[in-house]
Amino acid sequence: MKLLITNALIIPMTKEGLSLRGDIGIDGKHIVFVGTGNPSFTADRIIDGSSFLAMPSLVNAHTHLSMGLMRNYKDSLPTLHAWLAEIFPIEEKLTAEDVLLASRLGIIELIQSGCTMFTDMYFEPQSTAQAVIEGGIRGSIGVTLFGALEENKARVEESEKTLSPYLAQAEGRLTLNVAPHAIYTCTQETYQYAADWARQHGRVFHTHLSETKKEVDDCIAETGMTPPAYLAKIGVLQEVKSMLAHCVHLTEEDIKLLKTFDTTIVHNPSSNLKLSSGIAPIASYLNAGISVALGTDGASSNNNLNMFEEMHIASLLGRVVETSGEKTTPYQVLEMATKRGAEALGIGDQIGTLETGKEADLLLIDLKKSHLTPLNDPFSALVYAAQSSDVDTVFCQGKIVMEHRKVCTFDEGQVIEDVQRSWAEVLNR
Ligand SMILES: [Zn+2]
Repeated sequence: MKLLITNALIIPMTKEGLSLRGDIGIDGKHIVFVGTGNPSFTADRIIDGSSFLAMPSLVNAHTHLSMGLMRNYKDSLPTLHAWLAEIFPIEEKLTAEDVLLASRLGIIELIQSGCTMFTDMYFEPQSTAQAVIEGGIRGSIGVTLFGALEENKARVEESEKTLSPYLAQAEGRLTLNVAPHAIYTCTQETYQYAADWARQHGRVFHTHLSETKKEVDDCIAETGMTPPAYLAKIGVLQEVKSMLAHCVHLTEEDIKLLKTFDTTIVHNPSSNLKLSSGIAPIASYLNAGISVALGTDGASSNNNLNMFEEMHIASLLGRVVETSGEKTTPYQVLEMATKRGAEALGIGDQIGTLETGKEADLLLIDLKKSHLTPLNDPFSALVYAAQSSDVDTVFCQGKIVMEHRKVCTFDEGQVIEDVQRSWAEVLNR
């Protein structure tokens, strides 16, 4: 299938401030040109892009897709730890079927807000993998670890076996990562095993870190070190691609230390605000040369998976939380939501920008909206004014997964009904 998008306002995310008006050619999975059209390219379908902005689709670099089941549930607890104490017992009741239904719902929500790639950390990973295949988007599925080494060794071995057929049929859209939950739920040996496994298999290592002041204080009381220093001391961050979710509370020494590793900090501002964890000073991390990506966290601590809303909140917070006068720019926040997430996941050569040779993961945003008129600076418009409902059409690997706001790969009404039934059953278990 050859697709041609004509005369769109294109934000390729290849160079700060670059926007151009032109065409995008897609042949099968790949982008074959951006900007100037190729006269010999005969498209099977032509899409008039003149009222649209085309940009790379978004990467949600930290979520727990199936926590959508617990959306708007036990919301008024004072801290992360009080909230987790309510959520963990509910999670113990969830079945693989519940996780499948919730993953389908989450993927619909991701697609509707322009996201075609996410990193997940949850139980029953084969259910989420199945939903990724059905939904036609991408996912990096975390083999999620809790507790002591022996149970986690068995969990990883079993997950590798269970997930292998899904990886084989996903046409490159599915990858695995290893995701020890947090330093307060996993032992030192579990962390070391996870990092070894990631190195051995060339996978990403993903964990929550320095999310709350309590986590940092407890770690210092137990080990004499901050959480990043502790992970470095036990040999976890060395020679591995790591994604550290939150990092709300880092010291100057932590920042210097993390810069020496292949680390991406994943900013989850909505969740940090809602759980009263604090505000991560992202501008200072960026200024120190640390890569930062963006995530929504789970929909029970957010309470949605809307990456446009997340960009908006990150942009606003990035203007008020500053160290030495540093402030985030709209372009930096857009990078966090696109290419930085792709790079963190080791697929920066496939997606994250609009370039010839990359796979065609992109969005068309409807610019005929009152709140986008006049457009003036398109980068400002995307982070300060655009809504996820402005995303009109979404492509993943060259295929249309949403067109004119209708998700093509799932029956949205059916999925909503299924999830409502599933949650009612969970509450009665
Ligand atoms: Zn999380």
